[in-house]
Amino acid sequence: MEQLWSPWRSEYIDSFSSPKDNEECFLCTAASPDICDDLLITKGEHCLIIMNKFPYNAGHLLIAPLRHCADLLALDSEEYQEMMNWTKIMTAVIRNVYKPHGFNIGINLGQAAGAGVPGHLHMHIVPRWNGDTNFMSTIGDLKVISHSNSTIAKEIRKGLVHVQQHGIDSIIEKGASL
Ligand SMILES: [Zn+2]
Repeated sequence: MEQLWSPWRSEYIDSFSSPKDNEECFLCTAASPDICDDLLITKGEHCLIIMNKFPYNAGHLLIAPLRHCADLLALDSEEYQEMMNWTKIMTAVIRNVYKPHGFNIGINLGQAAGAGVPGHLHMHIVPRWNGDTNFMSTIGDLKVISHSNSTIAKEIRKGLVHVQQHGIDSIIEKGASL
């Protein structure tokens, strides 16, 4: 079966959102304080979380440092820690809200690795459902897929507020695994 998550394919898909030479980086635009973007989930002290405008799957999130930084190794320890913390929190939120069967989580580092926005590092969180590689045939079974990206963003924001109020342990079932 063909895999939905194929880093070498992301170059093509991400190319739709790649900044041209004269365009500003969309992650930097989202990071600027006066921007109101309905795909933005939240901003932390060092990172932002935003829905991928061109998702591989419903609920596909990006976590990026606020500053324009290309390299994982160039993040300072606060940025790195916050990125990893958000990765855990957002995985828990999506798991709680949408009950996916699995996740693809990772970074395409550099253009050779298929990064569509190579200048601005970002972590992908892609929820997966059994059979979702055959996107059209499962569409009727997945409520989530019929939702627009901005509706999904609203539900994820709501899920995040719950975690912020009750703590991450409140939504992680003890002993649960995918
Ligand atoms: Zn940027």
